[in-house]
Amino acid sequence: MERQTEICIVGGGPAGTLLACLLARRGAEVVLIEKQAIPGPSFRGEILNGDGERVLKKHGLLSKIAPEAVLPLIRLEYWENKRVVKTILPDTEEGNVGIHIPQADLLHALLAEAGQYPNFTYMPGTTVRGLLQDRNGRYTGATVRTAQGQDVQIRSSVVVGADGRYSSVRRYAGIPSITEGHGYDLLWARIPAPEGWEPIMCSTIQDGQQLHLFTQARGYVQVGWNIKEDSYKELRKRPFEELTETLIAAFPRLAPSVRQHITSWQDFVLLDIFSSRSERWARPGLVLIGDAAHTMTPTGAFGLNEALCDADVLHEELLTCMESHQSVEEPLERLEQRRRGDVERRQREQLDMETTYARNFNI
Ligand SMILES: Cc1cc2nc3c(=O)[nH]c(=O)nc-3n(C[C@H](O)[C@H](O)[C@H](O)COP(=O)(O)OP(=O)(O)OC[C@H]3O[C@@H](n4cnc5c(N)ncnc54)[C@H](O)[C@@H]3O)c2cc1C
Repeated sequence: MERQTEICIVGGGPAGTLLACLLARRGAEVVLIEKQAIPGPSFRGEILNGDGERVLKKHGLLSKIAPEAVLPLIRLEYWENKRVVKTILPDTEEGNVGIHIPQADLLHALLAEAGQYPNFTYMPGTTVRGLLQDRNGRYTGATVRTAQGQDVQIRSSVVVGADGRYSSVRRYAGIPSITEGHGYDLLWARIPAPEGWEPIMCSTIQDGQQLHLFTQARGYVQVGWNIKEDSYKELRKRPFEELTETLIAAFPRLAPSVRQHITSWQDFVLLDIFSSRSERWARPGLVLIGDAAHTMTPTGAFGLNEALCDADVLHEELLTCMESHQSVEEPLERLEQRRRGDVERRQREQLDMETTYARNFNI
């Protein structure tokens, strides 16, 4: 089977879905391929910072998200052994220290918006299996397998790899990526927030263990434990209560919810931490955005926001050239020129934040 489109986007995470939505609104023919059957079921970065908020507001999209799914966070606190040692309050311009939006809500709002346009096609449950090239080596589309098991060739003027940290598009295009470990991994879990819980973010050192806590919209708290890089397999041989009891010691108010909702290792999600930089973001007819181009660590919650900024800039570049019937090669290159510096600065900032982390606790 074969189909034709202008833009074929692989990966319906925040980067790919926002790009699809912005292009579809302006009349471009877009096919969005997503391997998950239901958008946003995985555990992901979900906190908007000022950059992400600006992008969504600029396009009138923040107001399209269900109000109960948008939670402005009022403080960032650093604790040490149950004592607050530093508090960061919002500056007056932003009015919050971040906004939590469950990824499923963000993606549903973007898909609902894009779905109003007949030039937009969403293919959930579909996996990319290879790329198409013409005889000059220019990328001309992708081969995908649909939810019904059909192989389809999607021919397009541009292929966008928005398929995340383990990008298949990047691999099929043979684009090398430099990966850097950060010496730790993260374990996450999610529990219902206790009655009257304030919308805060918090990092603490409790008995030498680093813990994180993010209040979430819809009444949840996401809790995280820093663990030594590659130590998860060994850790799982021990009782999971060693982790939950440290959490309870740090935040005694969470005790009932932790004991009721974290009852086995199945309740933890592992995020192996690394950052990566693709050697280049564009090839003729193909471009990478979001985590596929540059994987961030969760420090500072930049990953989601950098992905949204990439989509915003790429949509601008593509529309300008499509509307003036120019070749798309230059806009694809321009994305990297406009965004690589900012992203690499953020990655250096993350390393700096990780190495100076202890200073927040005056230790
Ligand atoms: C478990 C986890 C926890 C995270 N926690 C944080 C955090 O706390 N803070 C933070 O800032 N960042 C965090 N991140 C990173 C953050 O979620 C990403 O930076 C952000 O989601 C990047 O958006 P993206 O659209 O580029 O990629 P993604 O969100 O990864 O989206 C990629 C999409 O492509 C799809 N896909 C992948 N392969 C294929 C294929 N072959 N065919 C079709 N579709 C495909 C995937 O299903 C996915 O929907 C986390 C990431 C993970 C994986």
